[in-house]
Amino acid sequence: MAKKQFKTESKRLLDLMINSIYTNREIFLRELISNASDALDKRHYLSITDDNYRVATGELKIEIKTDKANRLFILTDSGIGMNKEALESNLGTIAKSGSLEFKQNLEENVSDVDIIGQFGVGFYSAFMVAKEISVESKAAGEQAYKWVSTGDDGYTISESDKENIGTTITLTLKDNTESDNYDEFLEEYQIRTLVTKYSDYVRYPINMDVEKSEPIEDSEEVSTKIVNETLNSMIPLWKRNKKDITDEEYNDFYKSKFSDYTDPIKTVHYSLEGNVSYNALLYIPSKAPYNYFNSDYQQGLKLYCKGVFIMDNAKDLVPSYFRFTKGLVDSDDLSLNISREILQQDRQLKQIAKSIEKKIKAALVDLLNNDRPKYEEFYDAFGAQLKYGLYEDFGAHTEVLKDLVMFKSSFEDKYTSLNEYVLRMSDEQEFIYYASGESIAKINLLPQIEKIKDKGYEVLYFTDNVDEFSIMAMQQFADKKFKSIAQGELDVDTDEEKVEKEKIVEENKSLLEKMSESIKDTVSSVKISSRLKTHPVCLVSDDGISLEMEKVLAQNPEGSDVKATRILEINPDHEIFAFLKQTYETNPEQIQDYTKLLYSQALLIEGLSIENPVEYANQICNLMIKSK
Ligand code: ADP
Repeated sequence: MAKKQFKTESKRLLDLMINSIYTNREIFLRELISNASDALDKRHYLSITDDNYRVATGELKIEIKTDKANRLFILTDSGIGMNKEALESNLGTIAKSGSLEFKQNLEENVSDVDIIGQFGVGFYSAFMVAKEISVESKAAGEQAYKWVSTGDDGYTISESDKENIGTTITLTLKDNTESDNYDEFLEEYQIRTLVTKYSDYVRYPINMDVEKSEPIEDSEEVSTKIVNETLNSMIPLWKRNKKDITDEEYNDFYKSKFSDYTDPIKTVHYSLEGNVSYNALLYIPSKAPYNYFNSDYQQGLKLYCKGVFIMDNAKDLVPSYFRFTKGLVDSDDLSLNISREILQQDRQLKQIAKSIEKKIKAALVDLLNNDRPKYEEFYDAFGAQLKYGLYEDFGAHTEVLKDLVMFKSSFEDKYTSLNEYVLRMSDEQEFIYYASGESIAKINLLPQIEKIKDKGYEVLYFTDNVDEFSIMAMQQFADKKFKSIAQGELDVDTDEEKVEKEKIVEENKSLLEKMSESIKDTVSSVKISSRLKTHPVCLVSDDGISLEMEKVLAQNPEGSDVKATRILEINPDHEIFAFLKQTYETNPEQIQDYTKLLYSQALLIEGLSIENPVEYANQICNLMIKSK
């Protein structure tokens, strides 16, 4: 029979796994049992509505057998099973949706052998202990098939005569070597230990034939008989008492159930009694999954009704701005044969969703206030999500999210929440100031920032595309309006300074008009600035769309012709202004060229491209020649 090849990425992963001296190889059992349990969940659910999957409840189980003579470890489940296509697509490749990052991570971490054990690589982990794996599987109403592979050179697939729906996985254990002994996985005691360690909470019985010895009455002898024993307690983790569950148990459960390889940053476990009663076990991951910002990321929680698994991603249980949350909900108050469509409109489900939102928010606020380093780790991964959330639905979620967002600021090289910013504001500071740019370093070079810092005002650094949009939706925080240092009137001058400025404007009216006239195609006006200290000019925009927003919108694949209203501001205290005044008197036609030059400079400082670089270069050359 011709062998089919693994997809390249799977092959690499397999090589890595098989050839590494794996320190934690026993987790293969957890992975196989977890797959079996998922398959049983699916069958259980389908059996309620579909006769093809009918099964007596007692028949939903996992069976472990060993064959010491042939060194076989055999795990059978009566779950949903796989047909030929499913066998090929599920077991023929790991990186189903091109999980490139996953692969890269693995390659980068190759030296750190243990890290491999952290990956939820599922089925493939069995190759750490097996030299050959066979998977025989039958889906309802379909021909059964047998998939066989030695891991390194592809797999074969052929028809099988398996009669019952479900899957049997047979591992031929690797040969023992001097340093590695695989026989432990044939020992009842070891199997029992591993099942209770990793899979005790699995809600289906994990059975194994074990030898029981009993003394024979009135005799010295003992009789041994084989008893089929259930190894696990079958109490789901989320139904157990919180205080009896260790962090390790929570984390292990998370990693095996939600295919993550790092511990979550926060676990929230609670049960609510009331109109709708339910148990919830929620996790806030510490890293964004590789596909988090792609459309194939599935938001939602696993939903169970009365302990029966209903679906993997009940989308409506978490709001989109908390879509990073993983976990499950188990409610006794939902109807079991509730259809997926009805589920979306279910009133009880909406109530559950509301309380979940509150719990997540409370958990995040708690981290923010009591474990800042962790909150910052979370925020590095998902802060952008919260800021998008502010902007989403025209700012409908600001109440939930405004306390959770943070920005870097000029106060110190750290994140600050808006609340912390406001607490630091002096009495006379009217606005929450912010400045936008590509990076903090670039923002600090902006001409506009000097004076505001001199006044002692703290400036929030907006370096994410979404930042300005998020505060636009909020408009204000704690009755303080947000103000860009590069937009509209800055309003930081004292009354005297204002009078002084009025005077300068009045005196130079016609010069300013002349300047405005020179660049009227691109700039709405040229004004005397009250925000500049040492720099000659800066480009600002009117209230509303900012220059940064214009840049972001222009990146939109569909393009955008939304433009900021540009204003060129000139520093009346700068030498250049005196020079312009003088030029205007002696040589007024020069003003046009000089204004264009200054405007080009302002564009460059803003990180915008100048409209006519050749003209700009020529003008500079002319100036040099003239100054000779
Ligand atoms: P994961 O469980 O993380 O999805 P695996 O490599 O462990 O990755 O399994 C791949 C897929 O193969 C599963 O998602 C499931 O669809 C299928 N599968 C694995 N084991 C079984 C089983 N015992 N019964 C039915 N399907 C299974």
